Amino acid sequence: MNTIGFADLKLAPEILRALTESGYSTPTPIQAQAIPLVLEGCDLMAGAQTGTGKTAAFALPMLQKLLPFASTSTSPARHSVRALILVPTRELAIQVEESVKAYAKYSHLRSLVVFGGVDIKTQTPYLKRGVEVLVATPGRLLDHIEMKSVLLNQVQMLVLDEADRMLDMGFMPDLKRILALLPRQRQNLMFSATFSNEIKKLSAEFLNNPKLIEVARSNATAENVTQKVYLVEQADKHVLLAQLLRGSDASQVLVFTKTKLTAGRLAKQLQKEGVAADAIHGDKTQLERMQALEAFKQGTVTVLIGTDVAARGLDIDQLPMVINYEIPHAPEDYVHRIGRTGRAGASGKAISLVSPEEEKYLKEIEKLIKKEIEKETAVVSHAAQNRTSRAPRGEHSERSQAPRGEHAERSHARPAAPKKPSHDPWFDKPYEPSASATTAKQPEQPDGKPKKVVAALFVRRTS
Ligand code: AMP
Repeated sequence: MNTIGFADLKLAPEILRALTESGYSTPTPIQAQAIPLVLEGCDLMAGAQTGTGKTAAFALPMLQKLLPFASTSTSPARHSVRALILVPTRELAIQVEESVKAYAKYSHLRSLVVFGGVDIKTQTPYLKRGVEVLVATPGRLLDHIEMKSVLLNQVQMLVLDEADRMLDMGFMPDLKRILALLPRQRQNLMFSATFSNEIKKLSAEFLNNPKLIEVARSNATAENVTQKVYLVEQADKHVLLAQLLRGSDASQVLVFTKTKLTAGRLAKQLQKEGVAADAIHGDKTQLERMQALEAFKQGTVTVLIGTDVAARGLDIDQLPMVINYEIPHAPEDYVHRIGRTGRAGASGKAISLVSPEEEKYLKEIEKLIKKEIEKETAVVSHAAQNRTSRAPRGEHSERSQAPRGEHAERSHARPAAPKKPSHDPWFDKPYEPSASATTAKQPEQPDGKPKKVVAALFVRRTS
């Protein structure tokens, strides 16, 4: 059905050239729908997740509309901010600006990204030189506005990317302050993966007669993602996680936690167990986060652990597996999380570890996605013993079987393992930031102290 090419969308030769260089041959559905509407000057409310090609859907027509302002002049006065793209996180900001830069490569349009967590003074000179397209996180943009390093009175296009996330992160007051500084006459494009009532309210407030486009049913989960729930006590989760990771041959696994504290601790624990894991969270410096992400993309880190906020905007192609160490309390976040796997037609796996306390949130998720997720009860058995060696990830040793459906029968044949005291003091230790954000540590040598290992993992299927 979608046989149109970028040239049919009336894009300028300099943009088409950049697209060919990026390796794009045909527009994605969101691009095919959005580009003509944006070129016409419509406001847009678009439902699209990361991975659908939404960045190019707004960036390409935006650049095309700004081409008349392209200038080789070095005078800042010739490079006013004409388009403002607001995004919720630094990582997304970086990715969006990288795309804009690539698409604008053969024009003389300038772009820049500004985000918090880095010295503001390093950004100011670039801003003062003048840029046509500014990608920013709201807080840092307000800092620049206060410092008078940027003027927004020439903005004619505004993009709110991942608007639902911006609301979740409490950016509404910042957004309102920024929007009040923009010219009233402008084109507004809003992208959101989910359509909550808050999003509808925001769109009614900021958009002018918006055209509504949607590429995948909102709040739907991809058909090609296999979803599974393990019912497990909270205190047993980290043991179960280690088991799942060892039993999986997935080359990249993204693990979600509720707090950055848990993300940091889990990463450290897994590193100790020889898993090439790292955490990506707000307590890390921007450089550490970028290095961790890069290491994950390159494959030197195979397990990346983060919170919803930190993981937002990660553009990792064909992530084979997502594990929810804790399920989100907002059901929409579940859709976001598992949307990171099974992209572009690839199949993916989304596993959730659900404690009894979390079952009410699971019900909410199932209500939202209108689907019951397959569940198994994992009974984790611990045995104190010295560990001298362990199976590397991806290999199945007898001790490191991941819970699988076939094991269900064994759980009937054997008595359930006695429940261990369900408390792990390791999780009560004060948080210590990891020494290195980038390199996963090698397995520690046995120190003579008994270490807790999993002797067996029994799985009981619940219907
Ligand atoms: P996004 O949803 O904007 O985060 O894009 C997801 C990924 O798809 C990025 O790596 C883009 O470079 C890539 N992409 C976007 N549009 C196209 C296209 N038309 N053809 C091929 N890849 C694309």
